[in-house]
Amino acid sequence: MSKIYELLNDQVNKEFYSSYLYLYFANFYVDKGLNGFANWYKVQSQEENAHAMLFIQYIQNNDMEVTLEAIKKPDVKLNGNIDALKASLEHEKYITKSIHSIYEQALCEKDFRTIQFLDWFIKEQGEEESAASELVKKMELFGLDAKGLYMLDQEMASRIYTPPSLTL
Ligand code: MG
Repeated sequence: MSKIYELLNDQVNKEFYSSYLYLYFANFYVDKGLNGFANWYKVQSQEENAHAMLFIQYIQNNDMEVTLEAIKKPDVKLNGNIDALKASLEHEKYITKSIHSIYEQALCEKDFRTIQFLDWFIKEQGEEESAASELVKKMELFGLDAKGLYMLDQEMASRIYTPPSLTL
């Protein structure tokens, strides 16, 4: 079994974990009465699920078998409203590193097909990190004031799920 296959298969689990983590954040905001934030994270959770499915499809398109592993329980402790936003940024940085290391391995193995597949995810991670960082900044600027928080929640309520632009 090649190293690249192992890494791709691990990434399936990491994307499902991301989906699970963001669902946990959505539930946290439901409890807080911030339904806009909850909506934003439910959409994010759907997106991560779609990422996992793309990795599965890619593995299968290459005649390899997918092994589904247990998804661990989200282990982030949340207290204040900003905590999930900060944890998201940290998590996305971790996912970026993970995808970069698969890319590095693909370069090493001259696996050009995987490199091309991962190009979309490299760009996507850039967008994920900047979106997460923007939310932290907005929350720091406006979220401490009740009116600001209300407006921010309204804004987050408008996010709609759109499937990934990558098709395989
Ligand atoms: Mg993802």
